[in-house]
Amino acid sequence: MSEPSIFTRILKGEIPSEIIAETDNAFAIRDIAPKAPVHLLVIPKTEEYRNVVELAADDPDLLAELVGLANSVAAEHSDGDFRLVFNTGPGAGQTVFHVHAHVLAGELDESSLGG
Ligand code: 5GP
Repeated sequence: MSEPSIFTRILKGEIPSEIIAETDNAFAIRDIAPKAPVHLLVIPKTEEYRNVVELAADDPDLLAELVGLANSVAAEHSDGDFRLVFNTGPGAGQTVFHVHAHVLAGELDESSLGG
């Protein structure tokens, strides 16, 4: 059994990070190293999916729940417009292999395309 992901540890309260919103199966936090004026992460409570491709194939309803949560936190923390980024694979900058989406909002430029 591998170690729980950093996001599972945040969800369990083992690592401090405010949970700013949640649904039955997903939660949202602020990114610790923001790359945009508003930089949030939306994350399934389960860590069984390593990336968005696995999530979409196995549980499209959960993917839809994640997108809905992204929409509501973007509306609450910015003007409602947002960029949704799923880094997929180390070559694309993925460092945490517990699927999550970056919600980027505020004054965006090309430097925040990579999450
Ligand atoms: P990835 O690089 O896998 O697409 O995204 C992982 C994100 O998680 C990074 O943007 C990183 O800043 C964020 N992150 C890593 N550790 C922590 C943490 O302990 N707390 C929070 N809030 N964010 C974290």
